[in-house]
Amino acid sequence: MSEVVYENEKLKVYMASEGAAIKFSFEGCIDEDFHCENLVGKNPAELHIDFKDVKVINSCGIREWVNFIEKLGSAVPIKYNNCPQIIVQQINMVDGFLSANANVETFFAPYFCEECDSEHVILLKGSDVATGVAPTQKCPDCNASEDMEFDAIEKQYFHFLEIKKSA
Ligand SMILES: [Zn+2]
Repeated sequence: MSEVVYENEKLKVYMASEGAAIKFSFEGCIDEDFHCENLVGKNPAELHIDFKDVKVINSCGIREWVNFIEKLGSAVPIKYNNCPQIIVQQINMVDGFLSANANVETFFAPYFCEECDSEHVILLKGSDVATGVAPTQKCPDCNASEDMEFDAIEKQYFHFLEIKKSA
């Protein structure tokens, strides 16, 4: 059961209970029209955020997001899930996008199959990337015996995991 708790022309936010936790699922575009007031003050034991259907986040949206995370406060543990590449990039670049009480559980990462010349976006767990090295992945499209190539710079793409380890 999920209900829409926030809506503007470009963005919808759904809320669902997951035990003592609350999950917010964002769908659409996070920009200057996103205002988080409806989403704060619910005080769950834990907050889960699902970014799977976020298509765009612009610089104003990033500012609103950091504001949102600050308003939630540091007492509630936050888990980010299904982070698309555009969100991973912001987490890596923007101080405060991922606060000290927040962690990335799952995120998408780009791979390339040289055998069939195709790009694939694979869902990874933070724990899959133990030493900053992309886990090996087979192409889902062809029967290539070779693993796919990781299609980003590992040190940059997995930067957020290192920040968390050294915190
Ligand atoms: Zn392939």
